[in-house]
Amino acid sequence: MPDAVLLRTEGLTRAYGSLIAVAGVDVSVKRGELRSIIGPNGAGKTTFFRLISGETAPSSGRIWFDGKEITGLPQHETARLGIAKSYQITNVFPHLSVLENVRVAVQGYARSFNFWSRSDGLTDVRERAVKILDSIGLASKLDMLAAHLSHGEKRHLELGIALASDPALLLLDEPTAGMSPEETDATMLLIRELAAGRTVVLVEHKMKVVMRISDRITVLHQGQVLAEGTPEEIRTNARVQQTYLGASR
Ligand code: ATP
Repeated sequence: MPDAVLLRTEGLTRAYGSLIAVAGVDVSVKRGELRSIIGPNGAGKTTFFRLISGETAPSSGRIWFDGKEITGLPQHETARLGIAKSYQITNVFPHLSVLENVRVAVQGYARSFNFWSRSDGLTDVRERAVKILDSIGLASKLDMLAAHLSHGEKRHLELGIALASDPALLLLDEPTAGMSPEETDATMLLIRELAAGRTVVLVEHKMKVVMRISDRITVLHQGQVLAEGTPEEIRTNARVQQTYLGASR
């Protein structure tokens, strides 16, 4: 039986000179969980993400994913093992169609990692790309140039690109940044739907989003875990109120 915990860090630390961006973080995320990481600016959220995805190597501490230690593995290795990250900065190709954007990502993944030799029954890159676009609500816009999508739709397409590798763990960096309230609501629904079949960890500044969609929340402050719990536990946590939520109202 697979381990109930998909991602675990122990004493995870990253220093930049004398500044300790992430300072001894212990986090456990269960399979199928939707976990949000929150905290004030400079709390270490982005650095924590980079450590998990392998973009940045830790100064000390350890990371396990799906029962294997991944400490210090580069991003292409963590991607191969099933970790995908959707970036804050847009990584959509504007002059390709919506379908091409996802098709290229699916094909790239298939080539790099022999995806099609796996016995998952999917044999066609286009079919897989269309299926992904259907799951993110863009099936009716397959032939549209990505440049012509709204901001919210572009962010959804980024999600589609991240899903190309069918990751076990999806890392989302501020998925609703720059979105209107309507786009934010639609994206929240979409993330919940996507989370039904996989584990999602996200960094998000909008408290309304975090409180509504998370199973559990980790609050970082000055590189350390200030609190962890359900949305209700975090909302009513006195330390979180004092150091973060009170200040962010
Ligand atoms: P924000 O909400 O503003 O994005 P954050 O919680 O994501 O902040 P990080 O971006 O992880 O915080 O930054 C944590 C600390 O580490 C900050 O003081 C930041 O200036 C510093 N830091 C991050 N990356 C680097 C780097 N490459 N070199 C030097 N210092 C860095």
